[in-house]
Amino acid sequence: MKPLNEVISACPPSGIRRFFDIAAEMDDVISLGVGEPDFVTPWRIREAGIYALEHGYTTYTSNAGLPALRMLICSQLQERYAAEYAWDSECLITTGVSEGLDLALRVLLNPGDEVIVPEPCYVAYEPCVAFAGGVAVTVPTRWEDGFAIDVDTVAAAITPRTKAILIGSPANPTGAVQPRAALQALAELAARHDLYLISDEIYDRLTYNGVHTCLGAIPAARERTVVLGGFSKAQAMTGWRVGWICAPQPIAELCVRVHQYTMLCAPHVSQLAAVEALTSANTDVEEMVADYDRRRRVFVKGLRETGLECPEPEGAFYAFPSIRSSGLDSETFAERLLKEQGVAVVPGNVFGPSGEGHVRCSYATALPLLEQAVDRIGDFLRSL
Ligand code: PLP
Repeated sequence: MKPLNEVISACPPSGIRRFFDIAAEMDDVISLGVGEPDFVTPWRIREAGIYALEHGYTTYTSNAGLPALRMLICSQLQERYAAEYAWDSECLITTGVSEGLDLALRVLLNPGDEVIVPEPCYVAYEPCVAFAGGVAVTVPTRWEDGFAIDVDTVAAAITPRTKAILIGSPANPTGAVQPRAALQALAELAARHDLYLISDEIYDRLTYNGVHTCLGAIPAARERTVVLGGFSKAQAMTGWRVGWICAPQPIAELCVRVHQYTMLCAPHVSQLAAVEALTSANTDVEEMVADYDRRRRVFVKGLRETGLECPEPEGAFYAFPSIRSSGLDSETFAERLLKEQGVAVVPGNVFGPSGEGHVRCSYATALPLLEQAVDRIGDFLRSL
């Protein structure tokens, strides 16, 4: 095992950042690069935050977070997905899903433990496993299979050191939504090998062709799964830094134990705003989702008309077209597209080796800009 300070200093700067830096120097860039809603937080949520500030809710909350928020999270998980969690012992509020991921890995892993991570995946998964002293063992998913997780591929990566499997669905960067059957098979595999499952469900409300499956609702997974959720994406609350963990009581308790020393609590004002988000902002969320869906259809159709093959993204707000027909690798494609046409996308290889041959385009961007971006991508492809 490498010492942790060496792991940290060997961690490369995010491959996404580099493109932001180039784009920041340019005029007239259409950015499809950021994984962030282009909506401002709905007004009634902001108003709740303002009210909280005006009325002096500026203190710490309990370490696990406001009871009202935990109750709402658990009751909505039950209503939406039939996932049962006790608000007072199996749920805690975190500083975004980012903290939830870090906590889950820290409480579950011992030094050298392996975590199987299907890729292409969110850029933070591998570094966070390493920062928790673990070793990420990535396994490929294939775009020909809609990036569904293949249980046999995961099974083949299991060793005596394997401790957990970490998945995200709906997924960044592919937009793939894991079918219930794949999750069921994964749960059974984990049960057979006594592994934990960490399920990043931050995009749960952003599905377009069907209902999201919460891994915690699958009986074979329930007692070994940490579900991570949050408010950054569906409620457009990235800057409020609020999320949650739902997990079986012994794991949730360990998470609170670490969190009470590292974070103390998630921001009080943000927790109150999140209560409002779950109480009265459902229509806002539905309207934003409907808008993403409209953009998704227009953008994917447009990309296909340029000649790029683009699997249909069923969730999140990313398209992940294949750029193989261009003859360029994904870094070169993204760099040239940015410099020659002023369109910022993220090369697929930053999300893992199976992302090579693709670029990630966020359609959390206004429709006219998406249409312009498609025209520019078309011009770029014709110029090759
Ligand atoms: N998980 C995934 C898959 C993400 O795409 C992101 C942000 O892009 C996060 C977690 C981070 O979420 P948060 O803002 O709640 O920390």
